[in-house]
Amino acid sequence: MAKETFEFQAETQQLLDLMVHSIYTNHEIFLRELISNASDAIDKLHFESLTNNELLEGDANFEIHLVPDEQNHTLTISDNGIGMNRKEVIEDIGTIAKSGTKAFLAKLKEARESNTEITDKEMIGQFGVGFYSAFMVADNVTIVTRKAGETEAVRWESTGDGKYSIEACEKEKHGTTIILTLSQGFYGEKSEENYTDRYKLQELVKKYSDYIRYPVKMNFVIEETPKDADGKPIEGAEKTKRNEERTLNSMQPLWTRNKSDIKKEEYTDFFKHQFFEWEDPMEIFHTKVEGTVEYTALLYIPAHAPFNLYYSDYEPGIQLYSRHVFIMDKCKDLLPDYLRFVKGLVDSPDLSLNISRELLQQSRELKLIGRNLEKNILKTLERTLQKDREKYEKFWAEYGKSLKIGIYNSLVSGENKVDQLKNLLLFTSSKDGKLCTIKEYCDRMPENQKKIYYASGKDKETIDQMPQMELLRDKGIEVLYMLDPVDEFALEGIREYDGKQFHSISRGDLDLDDVESQEAKKETETLSKTNEDLIKDIKEALGNRVSDVKLTNRLKSGAVCLVADEAGPSIAMEQAFAGANN
Ligand code: ADP
Ligand code: MG
Repeated sequence: MAKETFEFQAETQQLLDLMVHSIYTNHEIFLRELISNASDAIDKLHFESLTNNELLEGDANFEIHLVPDEQNHTLTISDNGIGMNRKEVIEDIGTIAKSGTKAFLAKLKEARESNTEITDKEMIGQFGVGFYSAFMVADNVTIVTRKAGETEAVRWESTGDGKYSIEACEKEKHGTTIILTLSQGFYGEKSEENYTDRYKLQELVKKYSDYIRYPVKMNFVIEETPKDADGKPIEGAEKTKRNEERTLNSMQPLWTRNKSDIKKEEYTDFFKHQFFEWEDPMEIFHTKVEGTVEYTALLYIPAHAPFNLYYSDYEPGIQLYSRHVFIMDKCKDLLPDYLRFVKGLVDSPDLSLNISRELLQQSRELKLIGRNLEKNILKTLERTLQKDREKYEKFWAEYGKSLKIGIYNSLVSGENKVDQLKNLLLFTSSKDGKLCTIKEYCDRMPENQKKIYYASGKDKETIDQMPQMELLRDKGIEVLYMLDPVDEFALEGIREYDGKQFHSISRGDLDLDDVESQEAKKETETLSKTNEDLIKDIKEALGNRVSDVKLTNRLKSGAVCLVADEAGPSIAMEQAFAGANN
């Protein structure tokens, strides 16, 4: 087929320009990106070959090769992974549909819109920016690739100027070869960043790609002085050269290493690269378990919730591996939905590689691992709440909503998580305006107080102006502010704590029975009797706009107040529903 020329998608070109013209200095990450793509491609082939062995074409020695060429200023990276056919090259390379790049652009947009102090430069360094980072160091990028199991190979070529060309070609081995024609300044002994220097490349692989599970190999030319029979160098003899192929990476996945040998930096680097994050995580869990099921989990809580965490386009899920072999990217059925913000991976020999992903997600082993991890995460959160309040409050600010929704949803779905979650909730208290747990509220309430009082509203000020608040303030009774519409749904789920009911101060009778004196109560009753006619008149005047009119002692300076029916929804919930229906 003849050579055809295509234009890059606008977004792609935008990213490319950003990459090439950025005065960003951390160019070296291009190697990490290309090696990680090579490794992904081998993962894919490995996985597919389990059910279709022919795809291997007789070559099961997965490896990645680096070939620097000083004379021609090129660096070639090749793999014997799945490869790409023509359609895939156009779809996967020419357009930005891929996770990493897309997430990167979304973050960039988000940062710009919110005027966050993040420069484009910084972001490129932290993110998995993918294939296009090659253009940071190369004037020309050529891909020669053949999909395993197919015959036609494809040659893709671009100088990163908006266009690329594609033509059919020959390639004996399946997989992908990427040839970079390095730009000025990235080759030659005199340049600071010489990507044809084998030792430089070796150092970069160690630094960024050490845990890649397939060998990254390179030929070294070793110069030696001939030795005599005793092993002593022969003086004056001409040096000999020989090629030696070396594997540059240790190939040990980070999570399989001993916890005590892993530096915090390694954990965070891995997190950023593997999960397209650009900030250090808030929490890291690394556990190895040997029991009924055996597994290693490396989980992270990102520092900030993604802006779309509660929208349908957010894809939660944990990566699955079996004996370090990648199985799937986003397994949703491992952790409960209220932990949708947790990122990470689980590697277990008990997960079968040979069953479909759908069946795997239902498997008993997976459920068991999921339950254990959920327990561990909750335990860690409880510990943080007790030992490091400041940190927990940061967590709460980002993910509190998720736990609250979780309580409600767990009741809807019938798996009841109330007991697991209720102690992790925080609400703002009228006592000091600070966050407190329900337990803290209960521990400090007067002995004769029987209920947990709360008030809903859009902010503290609005609630503080409610007539009912005045009375409670006067009596020194603490009220929990429900400032988020989901708060009340969570309370609906919890219902009571330690035998104490939640009671909205805008609902029915405040019933301060035990807190207020019997005399005050009697006084109200007498007053109600003597004013019977007045109350009747008001009721008639208001007609069916209210369900009842009552005399109260709960007002201080206000003359009247609206309250919700004892049994009906609270005023805030009514408003939430009204809003939802509009
Ligand atoms: P990401 O790796 O996040 O998907 P990249 O920009 O790094 O994004 O790569 C884009 C896509 O190009 C990959 O998802 C893959 O489909 C394809 N690709 C890149 N490199 C290779 C390779 N060496 N072998 C096969 N496919 C590749
Ligand atoms: Mg990639």
